[in-house]
Amino acid sequence: MLNRWSDADARATVERYARQGVSEDLALRVYTSRLLGREPALVLHGGGNTSVKTTARDITGETIEVLCVKGSGSDMAEIEPAGLPAVRLAPLRDLLALDRLSDEDMVNFQRRNLLDSTAPNPSVETLLHAFLPHKFVDHTHSNAVLALTDQPDGEALCREAFGDRAAYVPYVMPGFALAKSCAAVHAQDPEADTLILLKHGIFTLGQSAREAYERMIERASQAEARLARGRKTVVQVKLPQPLAGAAAIAPILRGLLAIDLDRAEGSWKRFVLEFRGGPIARAFVDGAQLARYSQAGTITPDHAIRTKPWPVIVPAPTSGDLDGFAAGARDAIEAFKSRYRGYVERHARRGGAAKTPLDPAPRVLLVPGMGLFAAGDSAKATRVAADIAEAAASVILDAEAIGRFESIAEADLFDIEYWSLEQAKLGKAAEKPLARHIVAITGGAGAIGSATALAFKAAGAEVALLDRDDGALEAAVRKTGALAVGCDVTDDASVKAAFARIAESFGGLDILVSNAGAAWQGRIGEVDDKILRESFELNFFAHQRVAQAAVAIMLKQKIGGALLFNASKQAVNPGPDFGPYGLPKAATLFLVRQYALDYGADGIRANAVNADRIRSGILTDDFIKERAKARGVSEQNYMTGNLLHREVTADDVAQAFLAQALALKTTADVTTVDGGNIAAALR
Ligand code: ZN
Repeated sequence: MLNRWSDADARATVERYARQGVSEDLALRVYTSRLLGREPALVLHGGGNTSVKTTARDITGETIEVLCVKGSGSDMAEIEPAGLPAVRLAPLRDLLALDRLSDEDMVNFQRRNLLDSTAPNPSVETLLHAFLPHKFVDHTHSNAVLALTDQPDGEALCREAFGDRAAYVPYVMPGFALAKSCAAVHAQDPEADTLILLKHGIFTLGQSAREAYERMIERASQAEARLARGRKTVVQVKLPQPLAGAAAIAPILRGLLAIDLDRAEGSWKRFVLEFRGGPIARAFVDGAQLARYSQAGTITPDHAIRTKPWPVIVPAPTSGDLDGFAAGARDAIEAFKSRYRGYVERHARRGGAAKTPLDPAPRVLLVPGMGLFAAGDSAKATRVAADIAEAAASVILDAEAIGRFESIAEADLFDIEYWSLEQAKLGKAAEKPLARHIVAITGGAGAIGSATALAFKAAGAEVALLDRDDGALEAAVRKTGALAVGCDVTDDASVKAAFARIAESFGGLDILVSNAGAAWQGRIGEVDDKILRESFELNFFAHQRVAQAAVAIMLKQKIGGALLFNASKQAVNPGPDFGPYGLPKAATLFLVRQYALDYGADGIRANAVNADRIRSGILTDDFIKERAKARGVSEQNYMTGNLLHREVTADDVAQAFLAQALALKTTADVTTVDGGNIAAALR
């Protein structure tokens, strides 16, 4: 493993933070925490923690000893001094005299010894850091170290790699008891500069930031060197080819995972899925011993919170037999759920407070011949689970190459997953109305597309913006944080690829906003046939093309969905010379009703927003100027020329789409957003 320490960078960090009044100790703590946090083979998403023992001045002006320790919720890769809150060190050390301490009392005690009462909660491993004598303490879940320790003879393998520089701590759940046993182990062997927490991770200790960091790199490198010796091949299974693609099976899996809250009312607890099919994921799922090693438990305890104790294995999806795949996957997921319920029942009765059972759906799905899917309640949580699943695949393959992977006991996995501190978080934050929903918006780079993306993101949805791949799409994505999907909606292959990309990135689709369009003009009796056909291609056939692609996904998921179309006032109230635009839009209005009729029984709704006079790609500034001039009114009066005398904005249209997405009992509806235009009024 590369040692990334640089004197110049360290000095620059110290100087930069000195200008903000941050001490050299804390600046160097930030510097090496980031070095560790940016190494994915050491630290993943909030895993790991670091500390420094230093001094600070309290409000009375007295200089006191403090522990600056990573706060929960910070990511080491981007940590700032505020992410390492200062806790009074002496009271923390006093706790060493106690025999036991509950997690709640520990968190409370740590909080009331913070110098800044508004700081984040110090890490649950704070006491472990406090009880060790060294100035700098670094903790990671190094992949290479885990591959050595996660074995029946893990301690012996580690001793081979690290010699007597390390001391070994048998597995204990993180918290007070672990802090005490680490302190005891270190007191027995005060020369040790490294603690290996068996089946959990590694602590390195140093008098300087550099020393603790370089020890971590050295130990990880020694572990890598040991893993490189005496490897045996992990036997692979050759699967019958060809297999269906990830995009084809993702919606099936997503539908099977969804939890029926009230099917009749169209209410489902959905999951976001993400596919990973890289070489490590493939080697892992194709291993002949997959059924054993994948079900043995997590590589480090806190992964159980993100990925549950084990993944589910679904069948390899033979091409041309998706129904067979769906049936096999359903059985596998049902078996997983009953195994999970049994696990909860077995352990929830053991002592302590009553536990709230978590949903029994798997968070990682292994697909032989293909790779893995992660599932979560948001794209972010899903990405974390996917990264963890890939790290687990890599560690388990390494462990198997030199021995046999072994995790902690099932009861220990349960204690982590159902940790009282985790249970306390349940139900605290209400989910947003469209959390766990996946939305695709065509014409994503335009004013209405980006406004709609922002509205759906604010409602909690995961959003893919589809448009021709150019600078405008990039800008819209920067503004909205949505996924950019290059797509020409007038091209079959491009639409197919775009929806496949959405299925691989998010697992499926719940809401389509078919918004792409453009205005063509011409007097209908004289207009060139080519213009009319071009307009039909974009303003009718493209709507049909993307709606078909969306429906294909929704039918596989079997959890309903919504198709929302951008219609136009032209569809019901033609303007002079606007035939080439209005005619396909009128056909699209009818298309909405046809989808509502044909797919209502599948829980798929189809609605349209009928908007008028909105500044956008269709209604350009030049066009507005020209029209206003032709009517002899100001631009402002032209834009507010409606019953309410209010200009209609892209955001008004976005809010109408959002309202339609949320109205679970509304289909075949046309919502007018035009400030009032009696000639275009429907009904
Ligand atoms: Zn840890």
